[in-house]
Amino acid sequence: MPTPIELRSDTFTKPTAAMLEAMRAAEVGDDVFGEDPTVNALEQKAASMFGKEAGLFCPSGTMTNQIAIRMHTQPQDEVICDRLAHVYNYEGGGIAYNSFCSVRLLEGHLGRLSAEMIESNINPDDVHFPRTRLVCLENTVNKGGGSIYDSAEVAKIHQLCREKGLKLHLDGARLFNALVVTGVRPEDHGRWYDSISICLSKGLGCPVGSLLLGSADDIKRARKIRKVLGGGMRQAGFLAAAGIYALDHHIHRLKEDHYRASVLAGAMGTVNGVTKVLPCLTNIVIAEFENAQLQQDFIRHLASEGIRIAAFGPKAIRMVTHLDVDDHQTNLVLEALNQYSN
Ligand SMILES: *Cc1c(COP(=O)(O)O)cnc(C)c1O
Repeated sequence: MPTPIELRSDTFTKPTAAMLEAMRAAEVGDDVFGEDPTVNALEQKAASMFGKEAGLFCPSGTMTNQIAIRMHTQPQDEVICDRLAHVYNYEGGGIAYNSFCSVRLLEGHLGRLSAEMIESNINPDDVHFPRTRLVCLENTVNKGGGSIYDSAEVAKIHQLCREKGLKLHLDGARLFNALVVTGVRPEDHGRWYDSISICLSKGLGCPVGSLLLGSADDIKRARKIRKVLGGGMRQAGFLAAAGIYALDHHIHRLKEDHYRASVLAGAMGTVNGVTKVLPCLTNIVIAEFENAQLQQDFIRHLASEGIRIAAFGPKAIRMVTHLDVDDHQTNLVLEALNQYSN
């Protein structure tokens, strides 16, 4: 049996030989004492890239998001996000558990909110209502099929949050995928958001790691919250070295993942039982089937061909391209999809 083709997530990548070599050669120290030079270099590098003052290296994107939410809110506050948001759906109820906040879930377009929608959901200053405090955006939106925010809309949301005294956080787990498509400069994102979370372990191909970026004051507080969550790591420079390598070498190549995903999305359109394929601009393909049976049959059929894809809700599937999916594998998947088409 040849090695399976792994399309369930872009988190399945293994470090390349060159990344492993960078990790092996890393200079390290105790990062809880602030003495790991490679962690410090990664935090500074990512922060400067986005025009932010400081960065905080964390074990996961869930942790960077949860720290940001805790840092921007007080108990009883309300957080606004889209109903597809990772911070709401996939972080174990962390907004309630870690921050004691309520959530105002809005129904945007493919996971994207507009300034207008946010404005009409800000609570008045009244003893009955939670205080609206934080807006969380996601870019690209995982459950939106990797949908990308329009910069003009983000600029408007930024302006609105300023005027209304709201904080604005970006879950940028796949922000680099958006950057290579839109060409928007990272510094612009840095100006719009009070804090940005980026993941190194998704499309960038690192084994572990996310970064929270923000002002020096905010990151100082974030560091203390990371400590209480048990996220302080010691010789984390070995992991940070992978991050530095990825920022230097794995951003531009995301375009290849996007091209391969677009090819697969095109083929999904004619697969038996498919009723809808979400627009595919980045590395995520989401397709919906008529019913759960057809979805399950399709997943099982691909599995028998050595192709692993993920069920995404009761009727949909998700395929994600990444560093460990090459043209040859893409062609094999394409053949399998075409065979399964009507
Ligand atoms: C993967 C992901 C995260 C972070 O997930 P971890 O597994 O905790 O690193 C956050 N937001 C989005 C949109 C994601 O896809």
